[in-house]
Amino acid sequence: MSQQGYVATPPYSQSQPGIGLSPPHYGHYGDPSHAGSPPGMMKPAGPLGAAAPGGMLPQGPSPPGPQQFGQNGAHAQGHPPQRFPGPPPVNSAAPSYAPYSPSTQSSYPSPASTASVTQMASQLNAMHINSYGSGMAPPGQGPPGPPSAPLFQGLPRPPQPSIMQPGSQVLPPPPTALNGPGASPLPPSTHRQDGLPGPAPLNAQYQPPPLPGQTLGTGYSPQQGSYGPQMAGGQLSYPGGFPGGPAQLAGPPQLQKKLDPDSIPSPIQVIENDRATRGGQVYATNSRGQVPPLVTTDCVIQDQGNASPRYIRCTTYCFPCTSDMAKQAQIPLAAVIKPFATIPSNETPLYLVNHGENGPVRCNRCKAYMCPFMQFIEGGRRYQCGFCNCVNDVPPFYFQHLDHIGRRLDHYEKPELSLGSYEYVATLDYCRKNKPPNPPAFIFMIDVSYSNIKNGLVKLICEELKTVLEKLPKEEQEETSAIRVGFITYNKVLHFFNVKSNLAQPQMMVVTDVGEVFVPLLDGFLVNYQESQSVIHNLLDQIPEMFADSNENETVFAPVIQAGMEALKAADCPGKLFIFHSSLPTAEAPGKLKNRDDKKLINTDKEKILFQPQTNVYDSLAKDCVAHGCCVTLFLFPSQYVDVASLGLVPQLTGGTLYKYNNFQMHMDSQQFLNDLRNDIEKKIGFDAIMRIRTSTGFRATDFFGGIFMNNTTDVEMAAIDCDKAVTVEFKHDDKLAEDSGALIQCAVLYTTIGGQRRLRIHNLSLNCSSQLADLYKSCETDALINFFAKSAFKAVLHQPLKVIREILVNQTAHMLACYRKNCASPSAASQLILPDSMKVLPVYMNCLLKNCVLLSRPEISTDERAYQRQLVMTMGVADSQLFFYPQLLPIHTLDVKSTALPTAIRCSESRLSEEGIFLLANGLNMFLWLGVSSPPELIQGIFNVPSFAHINTDMTTLPEVGNPYSQTLRMIISIIQQKRPYSMKLTIVKQREQPEMVFRQFLVEDKGLYGGSSYVDFLCCVHKEICQLLN
Ligand SMILES: [Zn+2]
Repeated sequence: MSQQGYVATPPYSQSQPGIGLSPPHYGHYGDPSHAGSPPGMMKPAGPLGAAAPGGMLPQGPSPPGPQQFGQNGAHAQGHPPQRFPGPPPVNSAAPSYAPYSPSTQSSYPSPASTASVTQMASQLNAMHINSYGSGMAPPGQGPPGPPSAPLFQGLPRPPQPSIMQPGSQVLPPPPTALNGPGASPLPPSTHRQDGLPGPAPLNAQYQPPPLPGQTLGTGYSPQQGSYGPQMAGGQLSYPGGFPGGPAQLAGPPQLQKKLDPDSIPSPIQVIENDRATRGGQVYATNSRGQVPPLVTTDCVIQDQGNASPRYIRCTTYCFPCTSDMAKQAQIPLAAVIKPFATIPSNETPLYLVNHGENGPVRCNRCKAYMCPFMQFIEGGRRYQCGFCNCVNDVPPFYFQHLDHIGRRLDHYEKPELSLGSYEYVATLDYCRKNKPPNPPAFIFMIDVSYSNIKNGLVKLICEELKTVLEKLPKEEQEETSAIRVGFITYNKVLHFFNVKSNLAQPQMMVVTDVGEVFVPLLDGFLVNYQESQSVIHNLLDQIPEMFADSNENETVFAPVIQAGMEALKAADCPGKLFIFHSSLPTAEAPGKLKNRDDKKLINTDKEKILFQPQTNVYDSLAKDCVAHGCCVTLFLFPSQYVDVASLGLVPQLTGGTLYKYNNFQMHMDSQQFLNDLRNDIEKKIGFDAIMRIRTSTGFRATDFFGGIFMNNTTDVEMAAIDCDKAVTVEFKHDDKLAEDSGALIQCAVLYTTIGGQRRLRIHNLSLNCSSQLADLYKSCETDALINFFAKSAFKAVLHQPLKVIREILVNQTAHMLACYRKNCASPSAASQLILPDSMKVLPVYMNCLLKNCVLLSRPEISTDERAYQRQLVMTMGVADSQLFFYPQLLPIHTLDVKSTALPTAIRCSESRLSEEGIFLLANGLNMFLWLGVSSPPELIQGIFNVPSFAHINTDMTTLPEVGNPYSQTLRMIISIIQQKRPYSMKLTIVKQREQPEMVFRQFLVEDKGLYGGSSYVDFLCCVHKEICQLLN
């Protein structure tokens, strides 16, 4: 195989029409053995599968009907001015219906292609080492462009016709010359203008952050000896594999930065530009294929026929017409759907449509729900489905005349005709056993083993429950919550409590047979909180005392979930388990776990094992939970390895949330935990849900990522789904798409409300289609792309070596950009890096993803932490993944105390800090307040009420209320950042040049990682080289 050989290496050697790049992996990583449901995951038909044949599940495509019937082209023309224009009309001339047929082609890479990618990657590695280490120019590289070639500046520059495209950005050539033999060694990049401490030399005296290190909030393993020695290994695979380790750690003088960081695309600039142009405005969803404002831009969204971007965001708002085009560009076609997203109070909540016993109006063939994409014809007697083109009779109760443009007279009176999102009241057909559901129940399950009693956790939980139970969620029109509550404590046995309102004292029943858990009481276990309040308070007061003398260290875990699920099943209601757990469940019982953490697996093909559950007990438990609408939320308080990969599986697959507090200490961590608990109990949530994605002809949903469970290829089952959970859906072509009819998506979620009502929530979105690649690139959204890439990669870590996954990500990034360069940009010097405007910051975000601890094979990071972060990301929406991968870093010393606006963020790099400054960093899980050694004393006084830097106590996790403008403004900023985020962020105070700074620096994601992972500049150069290779 040729060493020159990117293009010469299979599978790239078979050139495709157009660009000569063929997609080896097109966004897929899975293990072929998982292409279908593994046998162990099979389960009986879901809640609606058998019970509701006429329900949500479609009955398969019927033979092509008279879809060409009823030409309505006339209707589609010339809309007069309206209150607001509706979505574009459906064009009935769309291609005739093609029945869905499961693709027979495996979407997974064959072993052969994996091997070739691996091989290719090792060549790449060699190439990188050459170019970065010894300064050899990459093969095939053209001469560098003029140094004055348009650089990325802080502000957009006027287009420079020779090399810039409208909507493109151009970067100077990769560092051939700078990096070349002639390049003089520049001062080590350890030089910092801002006077940060010199770098810790390799093998230096940096000790790990003070452990309880994990009290710093990031959970890196305490076992690490020191940071230095691990850096020395140069055997890391790309992209962490730059020899010599991070730039900040000295060693031999590094070759200097090849590019001025100010000259490369800045995420902050992109965010600020979008804010400046679109912030504070009304964004109306009235046109097809509109790219919404960025998730970081605040605006008011008005539903005018397409779902708000709060509910659905797409990787691109213009789909390529053909699968060849899609393969050529390799841009994933995906939607990130957050069906229960929180809507701000200044936007309209969803309308509820009630057709009584008739139920929702649906297409006879594809079962799509009535929506703005249905075209009424024949005077309103029939309508043509926008999804499958079938012509349906309008049911008599639903008949309405059409106006002169073919629109129903009640168009604006019916949410389902004019809005992108709305809800339907579901009829009994949509309920289990055709019976209205019972309201859900919450069961609180507390681990009362020795350590939890000893450290006061049990007491804290019990105290808090007395308060939060007052705030159980309720339907708006109801006075009290319909949710019933129950209580269980456990160590190696289970204790059920009878808290029936007429009891003077709660009663305990012990279940010692954890092998086959049964529910010892039905009456009195699940109760209305208000009615049983005194008995419940009595119980919560007694629990800490009851187990005060217990020496029981061992716990069970699977039987706890089993017990909760059985209790819900017995009560015939869906619900949520809140489990408070601390240790590896080693007691003899189903789901017993052993410590199998093995750092030796890291960086081997077996590393994936660390992310897989160690027993299939949890898999089948999750399956049962989903089948019974039992969602599991887990609060973990580990002080050592607890096997998050196993314990977290049920929460993940049941739509629950996993919270983790390493080395929980009452005075440091209780606030964070209590905030999480309150927030979780109060949040909006739907139970016993099934989501179904329908699409117009020519493409379909093929892959789903999230806290979901699937028994077949189409029904996304969720025991529950709350306002913070998103499901990412990938689409593939199965035919051509037509430019005029576009690509339509309908997401329907059938669920039970907190009040026990069965409903359907519908979100519709219309996208454009184009046969021009440039249109596709113009309509991309990088934040959604990163969400998709993160989830697909994190799903793949269960099956594939991490090295392969990282390589696929890098390759795909290069392919996407190379295809743009080749097909959309105007001719320019081969050495210029040209990025589409919509993907300007794709490289920096992609690098952040590659550096995330899940994908970074490093022993310094605990296995549990990696499993935890993997799981969190799998359910994230776009706003949360954006912040998680590229943290927000705010200069606090420039605070304008008279303004309520947040200061403008700065880029996440050490070079942006200054020793006179104070900076706040947040990523959605952690928050840091970093104080430069020369921070202004008046600010320190203002914030901390102490006279100097030296007096600041870094043990605090909340700022004191000092009662001056600095303090008030900073505290307000912190609460604004915290708002809307699903996890409470623990605040860590970091003083410059003190050890905890090491933890903080990991979040400076544009720099080289402490544990490997390249800097943004280096990564951009690598991507550029790959693009050059591809284009050669
Ligand atoms: Zn249809």
